[in-house]
Amino acid sequence: MAILAEYHKPQSVAEAVALLRRTDVRLRPLAGGSQLVGALETRTLKAVDGVVDLAGLGLHRIFATIALLRIGATATLSDVSSHSVAGALAGGILRRTAACEGPVNLRNAATVGGLIACAEMDSEFYAALLALNASVIVSDGRHETSIPLPVFALPSSHHLIIAVTLPIRTLRAGHARIARTPSDRCIVAAVAVMGDGVERVALCGVGERPLLAGGALTPPDNWKGSAEYRLAMADVVRHRALTEAR
Ligand SMILES: Cc1cc2nc3c(=O)[nH]c(=O)nc-3n(C[C@H](O)[C@H](O)[C@H](O)COP(=O)(O)OP(=O)(O)OC[C@H]3O[C@@H](n4cnc5c(N)ncnc54)[C@H](O)[C@@H]3O)c2cc1C
Repeated sequence: MAILAEYHKPQSVAEAVALLRRTDVRLRPLAGGSQLVGALETRTLKAVDGVVDLAGLGLHRIFATIALLRIGATATLSDVSSHSVAGALAGGILRRTAACEGPVNLRNAATVGGLIACAEMDSEFYAALLALNASVIVSDGRHETSIPLPVFALPSSHHLIIAVTLPIRTLRAGHARIARTPSDRCIVAAVAVMGDGVERVALCGVGERPLLAGGALTPPDNWKGSAEYRLAMADVVRHRALTEAR
């Protein structure tokens, strides 16, 4: 069992960042807890004295204007799926890929900010955000900065992801995946988005985190698939996703 010395539930981003800046204790942001709690319980993650719960910051809201969708960092994958604009974007690609992230109890807890912070290589939802040209809004408690998702890295441990923004355009999408079973996490997957002068494909399972097709691929070589297999299958899923989007 993890023993945490401190638990905080601040009511503003500035207060949360001030807690994360403390040098006398090592505090970590807690969102849905679906990854963090397990890592603390199993002690995979060490050197954490306490958590800063983000649930009181009001970052769960999803706003849509004519041109832009803004998804708050603590919106859950289920919130996104059921939102009238977010869930329907590009033929419902966020809803579709959210369903691949895990069972409904996980989707009810896991947040968009947590998913971006984790950047798991097989996250198809993350790949969909890449294909939809997402940017990540981070805050240091005073200023907000927008960072394009393909080059995103949290500037420091006292910055918080506070939202993700997506341009709203009329797009078609395709999604293809290879997994051991339909309900399993993917070995490789592709999300393609097309229309309005745009054609973008994002891939999972061929790098440290999901990435846009076109750059260098650095697939892992593990029990789920060799690097050679992953490279060959990346071509297959990319082709299938593009064909569906067309
Ligand atoms: C059964 C199961 C299946 C899973 N399947 C998948 C999967 O298919 N794909 C996948 O990607 N992940 C998967 N995960 C991992 C995890 O659930 C997701 O990555 C999830 O989205 C994490 O979000 P969370 O809100 O629960 O984050 P938490 O667990 O609360 O936090 C995760 C990490 O992100 C940091 N963090 C959270 N929010 C912020 C923020 N706003 N700003 C800065 N840092 C932040 C935390 O400090 C922590 O280090 C799975 C987990 C489980 C238990």
